[in-house]
Amino acid sequence: MRYISTRGLAPTLSFSDVVFAGLAEDGGLYVPEDYPVFSLQEWQRLRGKSYAEVAFAIMRPYVHEAFDDATLRAMIDRAYGGFSQPENITPLIQVGPEDWILELFHGPTLAFKDYAMQMLAQIFEGLLEQKRRPLTIVGATSGDTGSAALHACRGIQGAQVFVLHPHGRVSEVQRKQMTTVIAPHIHNIALQGTFDDCQAVVKQLFQDAEARKDWGLTAVNSINWARILPQVVYYAYAALALGAPERTVAFTVPTGNFGNMFACFVAQKMGLPLGRCVVASNRNNILTRFFQTGVMESRAVEASVSPSMDIQVSSNFERMLFEIQSRNATMVKNQMDGFKKTGKFSVDSGTLGALREKCHAFDVTDTQTADMISVMEQNTGYVCDPHTSVGCYSARQWRQSGGVGAMVALACAHPSKFASVVQGATGKPVPVPARLQQALLAPEKVNVLANDFGVVRDFIAAARRSPSASTV
Ligand SMILES: *Cc1c(COP(=O)(O)O)cnc(C)c1O
Repeated sequence: MRYISTRGLAPTLSFSDVVFAGLAEDGGLYVPEDYPVFSLQEWQRLRGKSYAEVAFAIMRPYVHEAFDDATLRAMIDRAYGGFSQPENITPLIQVGPEDWILELFHGPTLAFKDYAMQMLAQIFEGLLEQKRRPLTIVGATSGDTGSAALHACRGIQGAQVFVLHPHGRVSEVQRKQMTTVIAPHIHNIALQGTFDDCQAVVKQLFQDAEARKDWGLTAVNSINWARILPQVVYYAYAALALGAPERTVAFTVPTGNFGNMFACFVAQKMGLPLGRCVVASNRNNILTRFFQTGVMESRAVEASVSPSMDIQVSSNFERMLFEIQSRNATMVKNQMDGFKKTGKFSVDSGTLGALREKCHAFDVTDTQTADMISVMEQNTGYVCDPHTSVGCYSARQWRQSGGVGAMVALACAHPSKFASVVQGATGKPVPVPARLQQALLAPEKVNVLANDFGVVRDFIAAARRSPSASTV
């Protein structure tokens, strides 16, 4: 399998090159040259198989030039072996006659990002074993991505990992989940600035030719194709468990950067018959407005009770746009250039119609989010986190607007990660899982740095040179 850029001006790359590149040289995102399509019989044969077996079948065609079958199987076992219930890592909870919740918070940091990040770390390690090279993993985080990355990457021999979070602007739980990961090659940077400042520093690093080459700089956010691929697995696994391919199953996805939603679309591309899905947003409703008007127009980000979705630029939407516009890279490039210049781009009515056939979009206010947590708890006894609640409220809006058939709402984080909002809504304390309790009590290590590119760059350069840094 080869990979091409959504903007058409970057070289076609192999899987391993795409993993290390992250973003394409032309600013685009990599997608597979074509999607492997499974027949209905092949999907049927996967039904009843374990999560690891489904993961193997789905990922194999995308990575088989990099990893032989035995290696891939071992990587999958290692990636998901540390989940809290290895025999049932994505539980489906029925909450209505045709309504389910898919729990994706049974990994080490209690949010769905573990499902992809644990696998990405295995992929990095596997590729480093084949070819020794320096690897410097850098990420900016507003919370969940950073902790998932640190927990996944702490075992990678020969990598240096730097995660930047905005000092004093992440929740105590999120901070401790990061700063209690202590190892010589793990570096938590608390930047004296905002999340956008953290992202700006990371972006500037990627423009630094020396850092890119000599340090082997790479990114762990969902622009990396290897973050999307493992997410395709749980859509297939859940749909099969509910009777697909004979039964049509749809998903509601709490959405920020659109990575999770795009993975759902990939499952469809691979021949899995899914119903029209629901893109759920909070008050940062750029996607809902886009689905109404065909105009993507960013506004200032507003803080909400579902902070992991507080975003105005959904990077992975570019992949969706590329596919839905029949892979017209020139058109995507023009739209993205326009968006960068004016904060705005539009699609034609044919494209908008095609997108609407794939998904609906709903947005949910903070009050509705809290109400839904409380209503769900009263009606079903199920306690959900605010992001999951945004999805459940959207799924309910979809039903009320005439949606029929099986609907699975994704539960993207454990309620204890956002305990104050949940407790405020239900009036009851949220039990804290043992894994989180350990992080809350463990010692912390963090480096507070000035919001200054030079300061951060010097820090990383020095840390890489220090004797404790493992060298490759
Ligand atoms: C990251 C995250 C999201 C948004 O997912 P995207 O793939 O960026 O759309 C939603 N909810 C939670 C809890 C998250 O951590």
